[in-house]
Amino acid sequence: MPTKLGQNFLINEDIAKRIVESANIKGDNVLEIGPGEGVLTKYLAEKAGKVLAVEIDESLAASLEKEFNNIFTCHPRENGDPENPLDSRWSLSSCNGGGNDKNEVNIIEGNILKINLPKLIEENNFQNYKVVANLPYYITSKIIRLLLETKYPPSEMILMVQKEVGERICAPSGKESILSISVKLYAEPEILFFVPRENFDPAPEVDSAVIRITRKKNLPKADASEFFSLVRAGFSAKRKMLINNLSSGFHIPKAELWEWMKKAGLEPTQRAQELEVEDWIRMYNILKKSST
Ligand code: SAM
Repeated sequence: MPTKLGQNFLINEDIAKRIVESANIKGDNVLEIGPGEGVLTKYLAEKAGKVLAVEIDESLAASLEKEFNNIFTCHPRENGDPENPLDSRWSLSSCNGGGNDKNEVNIIEGNILKINLPKLIEENNFQNYKVVANLPYYITSKIIRLLLETKYPPSEMILMVQKEVGERICAPSGKESILSISVKLYAEPEILFFVPRENFDPAPEVDSAVIRITRKKNLPKADASEFFSLVRAGFSAKRKMLINNLSSGFHIPKAELWEWMKKAGLEPTQRAQELEVEDWIRMYNILKKSST
């Protein structure tokens, strides 16, 4: 049975370390989504400049707040005496001589899909950041889409996702889907490693995969909503040829479509899953030009 809020906690510390190492963090700012009991957060805190961790569960957020503000926050808490490191409102790492502005962890209680992410990023001066997360499976695609399309997208994401979802996102040529194209428009995804289900408590019914999604430096100039209405129309009936799907989706005669597909370097018999993101972009540009 699916757990409440996708709460399958990682219980293997070696895997937690491996996930954090995969992010190659050297003082970068990190946004973590769903820190849970903090298994990744503590390793992130050792390497990141600053960690923002957004957790929806009030009680988890409260215990993380206690744990990390006491251990890792390096600034004096509000009203803390900056001259007195034994003031309880100072962090432990400051008491231990670690008092620089590294390793700050801010726990934010909230729903990642509802908070104002651009505002959070601006307030924390987080315009350059990475995301590291063991994502709640019930909203994986929504979170990835949010992070790809937000005003300040991360340069890189290291994400633990359901194995099948990871494989679909990183699909090889010929096996594309709306999901893989929606990631590949903005970024390059790759599978890093798989994590069997017994490494979680409670164990989910599926295995997991850790994937890296690296933001492309130069994005194609395409209106996202127009681009995806083309992609969705192309995938509307999976077994049908692209030309049939587009013709019925946009009410365009097949002969006309065929001319445009030829211009885009496509074959009349191709199916949507055979098109790579570059093919979709060429097709989009040709259709756009023809409609202006
Ligand atoms: N990072 C921890 C780990 O690796 O053990 C927990 C991962 S668990 C798969 C997913 C976490 O996301 C849970 O802590 C859950 O409460 C949190 N979560 C679920 N939905 C969320 C949402 N909409 N916004 C923020 N956190 C969410």
